[in-house]
Amino acid sequence: MISLIAVNVRVLIDGPSELVFDYAVPTGMDVKAGCRVKVPLRQRAASGTVLAVVEGGQEDFALRELDALIDPDPLVTVELLKIGRWIADYYGCGIETVIRSLLPESVRSEENSAKTRRVAVLDEVPDEDVVEKLSKRAPRQYAVMSLLVGAENHRMAVADMGKGSAAALKALEKNGLLRIEKEEVRRDPEGAGVSEIIASEPLELNGDQQQALDAILESMDSPAPKPILLLGVTGSGKTEVYLQAARKAMDAGKTVLVLVPEISLTPQTIRRFKARFAAEHDQVAVLHSNLSQGERFDEWHRIRKGKARIVIGARSAVFAPLPELGLILVDEEHENTYKQESVPRYHGRDIAVLRASVEKCAIVLGSATPSLESWHNTELGKYDLQRLEKRVDGQSMPLVRVVDMRMEKGKHKGGPAVLSDKLRTALEQRLEKGEQSILFLNRRGFARSLQCHKCGHVCECPHCAVALTYHRTDERLVCHVCGHLAIVPRKCTECKDPAILLQGYGTQKVEEIMAKVFPDAKIARIDADTMRRKHALRDVLNAFKSHKIDILIGTQMIAKGLHFPNVTLVGILNADLGLHVPDFRAGERTFQLITQVAGRAGRGDLEGEVIVQTFTPHSPSIQFARKHDFDGFSEQEMEFRQHFSYPPYGHCAVLTSRSAHERRAEFTLQTLHLRLAEDLPSGISLGEVLPSPLVRSHGQFRFQITLRGPRARQLSRHVQVVLKRTTLPEDVTVVFDMDALSFT
Ligand code: ADP
Ligand code: ZN
Repeated sequence: MISLIAVNVRVLIDGPSELVFDYAVPTGMDVKAGCRVKVPLRQRAASGTVLAVVEGGQEDFALRELDALIDPDPLVTVELLKIGRWIADYYGCGIETVIRSLLPESVRSEENSAKTRRVAVLDEVPDEDVVEKLSKRAPRQYAVMSLLVGAENHRMAVADMGKGSAAALKALEKNGLLRIEKEEVRRDPEGAGVSEIIASEPLELNGDQQQALDAILESMDSPAPKPILLLGVTGSGKTEVYLQAARKAMDAGKTVLVLVPEISLTPQTIRRFKARFAAEHDQVAVLHSNLSQGERFDEWHRIRKGKARIVIGARSAVFAPLPELGLILVDEEHENTYKQESVPRYHGRDIAVLRASVEKCAIVLGSATPSLESWHNTELGKYDLQRLEKRVDGQSMPLVRVVDMRMEKGKHKGGPAVLSDKLRTALEQRLEKGEQSILFLNRRGFARSLQCHKCGHVCECPHCAVALTYHRTDERLVCHVCGHLAIVPRKCTECKDPAILLQGYGTQKVEEIMAKVFPDAKIARIDADTMRRKHALRDVLNAFKSHKIDILIGTQMIAKGLHFPNVTLVGILNADLGLHVPDFRAGERTFQLITQVAGRAGRGDLEGEVIVQTFTPHSPSIQFARKHDFDGFSEQEMEFRQHFSYPPYGHCAVLTSRSAHERRAEFTLQTLHLRLAEDLPSGISLGEVLPSPLVRSHGQFRFQITLRGPRARQLSRHVQVVLKRTTLPEDVTVVFDMDALSFT
């Protein structure tokens, strides 16, 4: 039989080889894009996902037919598929890897399915004489019947009926007195934990909050909402605004997606959402990496069916299959953790903005220190800006003091200057008053820069304005953006003092020193080394909250969203550590970090104080953070970015090669460099092949090239074209990172 309209589908075959084939759809089979299908593949059967349906095409007898539809409902919505294709194209990766992110393994894998249990159901309570008879002749059956009569809705799980009821159940079923049926049970990741949550009521908003909320609500009613950047200082009540906006979306029958930088580091935000939606707690799904396969399967399907209408999760939750999406909230939108550091290397915030535009829903990006990318978009009029200028309840911003560590030189008998006199005194005072302190050390960056401990000068690249990186192997200073080389000076090039030193001491050292200086204080440390044990972070934070700890020492793990009313002092031990890394965002990161960490102080009724120790006290990032002045900082930083064509004025990408063989890693990248240099589109600047700041990692040597260009697509395409026509040696891996955030 010849049908006039042929329907063909393009199918992505499951498996690592990213095969895509066209198949014909058998008459009568209703296939949509996003459906899971069984297909013939050479001599075997395979499964795959439909990427596109082509209707009205020519009948092509060469095409094989689909074997079967695994599920008539598409697993991926049309909108998400569109986003998936965009990601593959923009970040230069296969659509298969993107689909893997879109559809978690636990959902795709055919081994997983809903968990069911058997329940006994009584449709009608039997007449008294029947019951009477049972009680005399069949005590077991009578017992089962009594249980069901007394049970809620006359239903009860067979497993709950006790041993020895199987025969009785069978007999009762046979006599038509009850039914046995299967019901789906949710593998609830929260389990019994829900009862601990105390419901919270909406607070009365202040003027700024109300204005921000109104703007969000207006945007929710708009046919094509513009993203809103909510810039609110720490403690200005952003979360309350999120909660009330989410409530409105829920009441309008819509669903809400809440993205947070990292689930384990934002327990307080999650708890507040759960508390506000306590009455609908089964509609809140928290997606975190500790879910079992079964739990993830259930949560995913609950979301897709519209049963879980608020989804809270980290970056990958941006793909949660929420129907009727009404609002996306991206908390701490400036955080780096939104960027995935493995393929597909998408930026969760950017994809959230894309998703909002595809689904035509409102989106709010919130932060006390927005990324300059988002800030630039408000300047261009692409985003609307809403501000919360004050802390709620008239709490004042903490007082930030900058301590010049150059003055501490010589006081520490050759050891590193860790604790200034000011900070030591401030800590003593807190201990006396029974208040708590946080000490923060940003140990980010093994890239070591040279800094003069007398004048604070740091060796920088004259062309790129980033710190030069010290390379021990060849005793050179290297610019990690352009490749500029410099000799290692014996004396400071500014003040001629020989006190020029490599950066570096860690949190462990600090803990040691603190224990010596304050032998009676209770001290704890939070960093990647001490937090390996499961729940370690939660336990330490709880101990800190209940004041079993006086001084908490930590890395950036403690910089985010924590709220401890009794903390009145925050010390930043070496603000320069993040500042002099070979990364043009170093200044921005330092500003963000100081502002965020400072926001941890004085969150209760007590006033807070922040002490920032630095060798470069006049650095703009530090000075603007001291004054809580985002506008001043961004104005000055944007000028620098524009001057060097750094983002947000243009895009930046990194191409990295890795191999156990140093020469091959380097040679491969040199080959790519030559090809990239041919037909280089105008405007793109191509950096040299350089050893990565992290030269060796996991036994692999790493080399990299940095590229900059005014237009993202042009840059990405140029690299992709070269990569496609280059055959790489088997033992070399090349990674392309578009809009890279990490240059290590
Ligand atoms: P942010 O998210 O901007 O850091 P939060 O939403 O955490 O700020 O608010 C800080 C504190 O102020 C929280 O304890 C919150 O409950 C409280 N708060 C927020 N809005 C109000 C309000 N309108 N009235 C009273 N308290 C509020
Ligand atoms: Zn340079």
